[in-house]
This record gives sequence, structure tokens and C-alpha cells, in this order.
Amino acid sequence: MLAMNYRGPRRVRVDHKPYPEILHPNDAIVRVTRSCICGSDLHLYHGMVPDTRVGTTFGHEFIGIVEETGPSVQNLKKGDHVIVPFNIACGTCAFCKQELYGNCHESNPEATAVGGIFGYSHTAGGYDGGQAEYVRVPYADVGPTVIPEDMDPDDAVMLTDVAPTGYQAAEMGGIRIGDTVVVFGAGPVGIMAARCAWLFGAGRVIVIDHIEYRLEFARHYAPCEAYNFRSLEDPVLFLKKETGWLGADVCIDAVGADAAGSALHTITGKKLMLQAGSAIALHWAINSVKKGGIVSVVGVYGPTGNLVPIGNVVNKGITMRANQASVKRLLPRLIKHVEDGYIDPKALITHRMPLAEAADAYHIFSSKLDNCIKTVLIP
Ligand code: NAD
Ligand code: ZN
Ligand code: ZN
Repeated sequence: MLAMNYRGPRRVRVDHKPYPEILHPNDAIVRVTRSCICGSDLHLYHGMVPDTRVGTTFGHEFIGIVEETGPSVQNLKKGDHVIVPFNIACGTCAFCKQELYGNCHESNPEATAVGGIFGYSHTAGGYDGGQAEYVRVPYADVGPTVIPEDMDPDDAVMLTDVAPTGYQAAEMGGIRIGDTVVVFGAGPVGIMAARCAWLFGAGRVIVIDHIEYRLEFARHYAPCEAYNFRSLEDPVLFLKKETGWLGADVCIDAVGADAAGSALHTITGKKLMLQAGSAIALHWAINSVKKGGIVSVVGVYGPTGNLVPIGNVVNKGITMRANQASVKRLLPRLIKHVEDGYIDPKALITHRMPLAEAADAYHIFSSKLDNCIKTVLIP
């Protein structure tokens, strides 16, 4: 079968790989029909995630058709069209029981932090992902959810990660009626977080990025105010002024480690960028939230070596909330929000490309070319 194949930083290609096998009675094999590239894949692509092994197939945002099921799978059958959450979750461990599906212990028992994730390096369990024609889906009775009959497949694939992550970013912000919410990052996740902030009662939503076409998209889609940080002398000072010098009620980090560097703030040399240049958005979030405010972090960082102004967190009495999105927990309410038209996830998809063109697709998404917001690979 054809599958994306990681060859090293900024080098991916599509190769023939063996068809995946059922390795456990709970597994299913899914024939992938759509598979997105995510900002999280860019951290892998940029070589910033430890233990990303050459030969790995990325892809944690996919939908498809059940091709085969292991002997103990009961909830799925061949031919079912399914949304597959990016978290691999056993459904029964102490964390899954609390609906912390992103922190499942069984799917990644050697790790102390994250649970298993499809196509996300050996720090997340070493599972191959869905940027392929077929993929093995462990614990098939737990995560995969049959796609409602009248749902557009482009909406369905956005429910594997982007919509739940944006929603959870807003949810973790503990937004109260009338709050001013600042979202750093106008990628798919940040745009979705800005849209969802209104659902929780935000009174004002501000998005910060430096890519004009994304800011323009956010202005209409969220809708929100959107500012280019390159044109602001100091984003923190600007946000303070905008909020009567008190600071925003809630700040959301939808950027994470930024390999490209945050424009003016890049320190050259990858190591330094990882340590110091990579947490700029998080610095801004901590420094521009009000005293006693909440900073919600969905941006992904490497496990160690991130410099965070923890002194300001303490002195301002900030509450920080962060996690991988718990997709399975959120799916029922997000399916409803798609059905009632409140969120239109497919509108974020700007590029649909054949899987065979994955190398080009990564380049376009990574370099933010051609007004790219979200790319879907079609096997
Ligand atoms: P993306 O790369 O498309 O978007 C990131 C955006 O941040 C870009 O538009 C970039 O210009 C902007 N940016 C860079 N530096 C900035 C700064 N200092 N201030 C403001 N904006 C800045 O990525 P995405 O797909 O939207 O994902 C965003 C982040 O969310 C990534 O770190 C990704 O790994 C993470 N993520 C987390 C989860 C989760 O479950 N926690 C799930 C999906 C994605
Ligand atoms: Zn993702
Ligand atoms: Zn579990």
C-alpha cells in the first residue's frame, strides 16, 4: 500500500509499505478516505519531537472505512465509515475512566505524559498513522465513531482533531459571559478556538498571528478582531492598552513550539529556537492575561527545555490549563454543533491533494504558501 514515509527533518516521501496487520484482537484495519496534515505534524516534520524515527508514517487526523476487525471487536463492522480520534485510548484505564482519553496509560505505558497518538513518534507510542491507504486502529471499540449519515466527510475528518482541540482550548479557558479572550495563532486550531470562544459567552475575541491571509480568514470565520504581531511594536503592551491596562481575561496558546521562529523573535540555531524562541506565544499569553486570569495551552511543545516565565505565573496568580484534546469526550457535542450549523469545520480546508503528493503538501502547509490553512490528503 502507499504510505507517507518520514525520512528526516523536512524530508518526507510516499512509498510502498506492507499492508497493516491485526496485531491484537481489539484492532481494526481502516481503509483511509481522508487524512489531514496538522500543525502537530509540522513539529515532527521540523525534527523537533524526540524519537521520531525514519520510516514512520505520520497522520493522526483521518477517517475511513472499516476493512477488517479483530475477533473481539463488537462495536464496528466491515464497511462502517468512521471518524477515528487522534488519541489512542483503551477506554478502561484510570485516565480513560475520567474521560482523559489523551492521557490513556495503556496505549503508551512507557510514557509519563501523553497517551498513544497515531503517527506521532515513539514518544507517543510509536504507532503508524493514517497518511496511508490503510492503518491499524488499536482499541477499535473505544475511539472510532460511525460518521452520521448526512455528514460531509470533510467535516468528519475535522472532528478527529481540529474541532475538538479548538473547542477544548476555549473550554479550558473557563470563559465567563463577557470575557475578553485572546487567541495566539490563527492556524486551524486557533481559528476554531476563536469561533468556539463565543459558544462559552466571550464578549470580545482577539486573534494574534503574523500571516495576513490567516488573520483575514479568522476575522470572518470566528468572527473576531485580528492583529498582525509584526505590525505591533509590543503585542503585550498593545493587548494591555486594549483591555484598559488590566489584561485579557483568558489567553489561549494555539501556537506551540514554532520551528520557523516567531518572525522578529527568532534566535538562530535550532537548539536555541527550541529552548528560547519556541515559547514566544506562551510568553505573550502569560504576560498579557490579567492577574488571576486563565491561560489555556493546546499548542504542542517538546517534553523539556521550554523556557516559561513561571515567576509571572506565580506572581499574577494565573491558572494554567493544558492538555491534548480528549476527542472522544467531545465528539457527541461537536457532531451536534456541526449538525446545527454553529461550526463549519470543512470551511478551513483550503487544499485537497492526492496522498502521492504528500511531500508537496507538507512543503505548502509548512511554508504557509498558496493561502493554505488546512490540507487534506486523499489516498
Ligand atoms: P499551524 O502551524 O497551522 O498554525 C500555527 C499558527 O501560529 C501559524 O499561523 C503561525 O503563523 C502562528 N504563530 C507562530 N508564532 C506565533 C506567535 N508568536 N504568536 C501568534 N501566532 C504565531 O498549526 P495548527 O494546526 O493550527 O496547530 C496549532 C498548535 O496546536 C500546534 O502547536 C499543534 O501542534 C497544536 N495542536 C494541539 C493539539 C492538542 O490536542 N493539544 C491538537 C492539534 C494541534
Ligand atoms: Zn492534529
Ligand atoms: Zn486508557
